[in-house]
Amino acid sequence: MDSYRSLDPAGVRGVVFDIDDTVTRNGVLEPDAYAAMHQLAGAGVHLVAVTGRPLGWTDVIVRQWPVQVAVGENGAGWTWVDAAGAHEGYFSSEPERVRQAALLDRVRREVAAAMPQVTVAQDDRARRCDLAFDIGEWVSLPRAEIDALIALIEGLGLRTTESTVHVHAVPGPWDKASGAVRALRDALGVDVSAELDRWVFVGDSGNDAAAFERFPRSVGVANVREHLDRLPVPPRYVTDGDRGRGFAELAAHLVGRRA
Ligand SMILES: [Mg+2]
Repeated sequence: MDSYRSLDPAGVRGVVFDIDDTVTRNGVLEPDAYAAMHQLAGAGVHLVAVTGRPLGWTDVIVRQWPVQVAVGENGAGWTWVDAAGAHEGYFSSEPERVRQAALLDRVRREVAAAMPQVTVAQDDRARRCDLAFDIGEWVSLPRAEIDALIALIEGLGLRTTESTVHVHAVPGPWDKASGAVRALRDALGVDVSAELDRWVFVGDSGNDAAAFERFPRSVGVANVREHLDRLPVPPRYVTDGDRGRGFAELAAHLVGRRA
């Protein structure tokens, strides 16, 4: 990984960024990172939050943060606001989502029966398309149990993805990269797949893997070093600071060079 200082900001149109442990620390949004979002937005850079957090949270984030689109549940859906009000989009059709919900019900029952010590994420009631289990938010699940949980879910035919706080059962074909591309098409009418090099992606852990792979200008905040073993493709660049401090460093670099 190269230093973020060697990322050429020329032509950057937007920043797509993860939330947990990329702009937050211990679950709380860092002031430097929030100020950095305003600096980027003020400089005309589009901002897209892409998180494993629930779609019920992205409804709030897109209204309160200086972002154009907020993508939730690792790409399953997204929310944006324009002059006509708030809108939502989904990766899968409504009939597909009904089938996916039945799959998730089965995962919920099977995990409860086989691993009763594992708890569903506390933000579950705000979720619409995926099912998340707490591995590091309010509990600290041992690695062997996390691996057993993943094997159980995948044995039921679903994919999984893992952030610093949750393991997600993913019942559809989305990931953060494909969700962000679809969301930007819906919200801004931009075909990001044709200009991926104009969008910077910033993240920190396993559920950012697809985006690190897809975006040529991908950046890890410094704490990404703790998760390189779960990333088939590491980010191309890395910040000096961790979490929101790293995000703020990158933003200053992008804005400074654009000015
Ligand atoms: Mg994260």
